[in-house]
Amino acid sequence: MSDLFVELTAPNGQKYTQPRGLFINNEFVKSKSGETITSINPSDESEIASVYAAGPEDVDLAVAAARKAFKSPEWRDIDTNARAELLYKFAQLIDENKELLATIETWDNGKPYSVSLADDLPDIVNTIKYYAGYANKIHGQVIDTSPLKLAYVVREPLGVCGQIIPWNYPLSMAGWKLGPALCTGNTVVLKAAEQTPLSILYLGNLVKEAGFPPGVINFINGEGRKAGAALASHPDVDKIAFTGSTATGKEVMKMAALNMKNITLETGGKSPLVVFDDADLDQAVKWSHLGIMYNQGQVCSATSRVLVQEGIYDKFVAAFKDQVSTGSVVGDPFKDDTYQGPQVSKAQFERVLSYIESGKSEGATLVAGGEPHKNAGGKGFFISPTIFTNVTDSMKIYREEVFGPFVVISSFKTEEEAVRRANDTTYGLGAAVFTENITKAHRVARDIEAGMVWINSSNDCDSRIPFGGVKQSGIGRELGEAGLEAYTNRKAIHVNLGNRL
Ligand code: NAD
Repeated sequence: MSDLFVELTAPNGQKYTQPRGLFINNEFVKSKSGETITSINPSDESEIASVYAAGPEDVDLAVAAARKAFKSPEWRDIDTNARAELLYKFAQLIDENKELLATIETWDNGKPYSVSLADDLPDIVNTIKYYAGYANKIHGQVIDTSPLKLAYVVREPLGVCGQIIPWNYPLSMAGWKLGPALCTGNTVVLKAAEQTPLSILYLGNLVKEAGFPPGVINFINGEGRKAGAALASHPDVDKIAFTGSTATGKEVMKMAALNMKNITLETGGKSPLVVFDDADLDQAVKWSHLGIMYNQGQVCSATSRVLVQEGIYDKFVAAFKDQVSTGSVVGDPFKDDTYQGPQVSKAQFERVLSYIESGKSEGATLVAGGEPHKNAGGKGFFISPTIFTNVTDSMKIYREEVFGPFVVISSFKTEEEAVRRANDTTYGLGAAVFTENITKAHRVARDIEAGMVWINSSNDCDSRIPFGGVKQSGIGRELGEAGLEAYTNRKAIHVNLGNRL
């Protein structure tokens, strides 16, 4: 076996061959520098595998491969039915390998296997199928002006797209970015997060098997400051799509400005969830639990700030605490009944603990959790689901994105106060409203500054519906028809039919 692959046995007994190389031009290759990054199992801190990490030279090679593929008749001039078929085939292969990919995702990221299999894998499969359906429906427009002129608009791909994804949903985020980019005829260099490269590199096998021409899809692994920055600042990249923190998003924006790249940014949040007195309490409790504790709280749109009207505040806090103690089973992500696995890395584990300290020192009341969770063998990056109450709007834990199983709950008196405080943030990704009064629900949904509002639910997400934020939560939209806008130019063609000078 070459140095580019390693035989592995996952904790659930699944044996497979893990690619270790960068996937460029349909081949796995070593990085030019020979540098590697070691992937760590966050459940027990053991090493899974070391994989090659890209530096600027490797990014150059991947971008050149994508540029060549973009110009090649094999891809540029492909019949759009055939382009759709390629995407369907890719989605089918992912589906056929779903147990293996879910295993890799859980091993590398720590999310429960049941979640990887039931949520993340269907998400990437459905998203790629959804956009496969668009491949032969990218329509232009004829604009009637006068008999003396024919004017029409064609929608063209942007070119080479750099895509930088985070570690919280590696496969899902790859699906959100690959689907719309490919169905519109672009080529891609996608950089996995350095914490979770394994499932993305494995996808390389399936890209090749599906029959994509070499260079259409390239996967690189590598550190953000090296590989990510080289991609974001590359003069031959036409577009950057980034998902991750707001701070890094700003850096990416600056680098993209070097050659005025088209950008899509999906960044952080501190999304409010507002519960009015007249809400269905059971529903509000269940959804607000999911809204912050799902995926170890590592969700950009997590509803991490809960505002409850004073009439039901005490009841809500008691029921929420109950829900956490019965519903948030923390432990081995390969066990069937586990709801919450470890945080993805030591850095994230320590980050969440530092916010716990901050909450305590700022005088908030710790109602549950507030410490590492030790039931999983004493190792691993597990955190007990944490609830703080008596939180004021100026506290760090109320204002900053924690990105963990960590919620702050506060009470309000009036609708006006709820909306004002919900909007008192630099972010604007998601927001949830619980009430049985439909007029109030729609009114508040309009008044809240967010890219997405959930009425009587939280973090409902669907490949057919646009996803994205306002304010410092991002620029542009992914998913749905809106996702196509991010990957096409509209070219206007004026034909002189007689209005000549
Ligand atoms: P990050 O934003 O730094 O990393 C996300 C991606 O960007 C990774 O692929 C990373 O390699 C890349 N990257 C990092 N620095 C870069 C640079 N200078 N140029 C180009 N690419 C770069 O996130 P992180 O450091 O892994 O996590 C820190 C915090 O970010 C988390 O605690 C959380 O608050 C937030 N976060 C948000 C999301 C989200 O979905 N919105 C996802 C992950 C992390």
